[in-house]
Amino acid sequence: MSTNPENLSSDSSMQTGGVVWNRLHSEREEICEALLRGAQTSEQTRTEPAQQFVSADKSEHQLQERLRLIDDALDRLMAGSYGDCSICGRWIEDTKLDADPALPFCFACQRRSESEHRFQSLSVQAATR
Ligand SMILES: [Zn+2]
Repeated sequence: MSTNPENLSSDSSMQTGGVVWNRLHSEREEICEALLRGAQTSEQTRTEPAQQFVSADKSEHQLQERLRLIDDALDRLMAGSYGDCSICGRWIEDTKLDADPALPFCFACQRRSESEHRFQSLSVQAATR
């Protein structure tokens, strides 16, 4: 009962939260439908070449990743921490959230995690040399 989205939209301090909630929920439904369609399609095209399965698998994986991001954003929305970067806790830029309401990091942290990832793969290369 505490997870009822009506509670969020009726709270005047969470007016934008209601809009974000609706956006996240409608995208979540689209992804669920796409995943369902994908499962049905792979069911019917079982005789397709293996390469086709790999690409279908990848897009399904991407959809599931996206679904996880959206669920995380909905969790933060209910916990009242929505819009805060999940790494540094700073407020994520409004323009960024408007472009992607499920964004978990601020611009700086996103860039840092990308460069760290690159650094890790570089150090792995160096270690195996
Ligand atoms: Zn951050």
